[in-house]
Amino acid sequence: MKILITGGAGFIGSFLSEAYLERGDEIYVVDDLSTGSLSNISHLISNSHFHFVNDTILNREVMMELVGICDIVVHLAAAVGVKLIIDEPLKSIHTNIAGTETVLELANKFRKMVLLASSSEVYGSNSRVPLSETDTRIYGPTQILRWSYAASKAMDEFLALAYYRTKKLPVIIARFFNTVGPRQTGRYGMVIPRFIGQALKNEPLTVFGDGAQTRSFTYVEDLVRGIIGLIDESRAVGEVFNIGGEGEISINDLAKRVISVTQSSSQIRHIPYDEAYQEGFEDMQRRVPDISKIKDLIGYENTYSLDDILLKVTDFERDRLGD
Ligand code: UDP
Repeated sequence: MKILITGGAGFIGSFLSEAYLERGDEIYVVDDLSTGSLSNISHLISNSHFHFVNDTILNREVMMELVGICDIVVHLAAAVGVKLIIDEPLKSIHTNIAGTETVLELANKFRKMVLLASSSEVYGSNSRVPLSETDTRIYGPTQILRWSYAASKAMDEFLALAYYRTKKLPVIIARFFNTVGPRQTGRYGMVIPRFIGQALKNEPLTVFGDGAQTRSFTYVEDLVRGIIGLIDESRAVGEVFNIGGEGEISINDLAKRVISVTQSSSQIRHIPYDEAYQEGFEDMQRRVPDISKIKDLIGYENTYSLDDILLKVTDFERDRLGD
């Protein structure tokens, strides 16, 4: 099959490309290298089944050609990372809304299936544990920029479901919870690459707020198996799925684990949210997915523990730092 991966030079997209290539599929990646990078896909470029187009999903002409060629679109391209959303709100909102609209409109024109990557951010500050796909979304005021990401992803979901209902376009929505692994950059705020980078340099680990907030982390290869499994399952069409890890850990405990795994002499430094992000910033206190829906449908399982993940990211970051 020919698969178009928007944002395929990003951290998740590069692993998804690899997995599909291993299966013998042909991959077309469109990526503007805004948060993705050529180094993520440099090992794939020489593969004759891998095609890379350096452009934005907002370029309708380019997208028309690519969607026309491919059988399936996996739409990963988006402005991601809390820090990026806050630093560049206009560009982020435009990419996430107009970009997805272009992808869906063209997929409908050529009648191609779309898997839309959504996010656990859509649940907002609902800290129910675990969060299931039909749970309520709770958002703060529009003056707090972080909510624009949740709102834009929710609008993408509405749009995709509207295409499914009104045009019978085959769409699948996957809500990714905190996904981690090698190649993820800490530049846009993601906590694990940041902590590991800090620990390897023996710098203080920057815990935002009081560190009592929790997250569940998934390894990127598990997530990728989930994505491919959903696309291969016809009963997934028209549905929304959580994909994420099952363990829950506080950010304070995560910092301690990182220090121990990396054998670092770093200290932990707490930084108020106002300083870390924006005045009035609101964080999610807990975010744990209910993954029974994807488990029941495709037998999804997480196979990597948090320590496995931390070791893999540590190895990668050590190489990157040239140790
Ligand atoms: N965080 C932190 N220090 C950092 C980066 C992030 O304490 O240097 C916290 C952040 O405030 C959040 C959690 O770690 O509570 C996860 O942040 P991330 O940006 O990785 O993902 P989010 O779940 O916020 O989308």
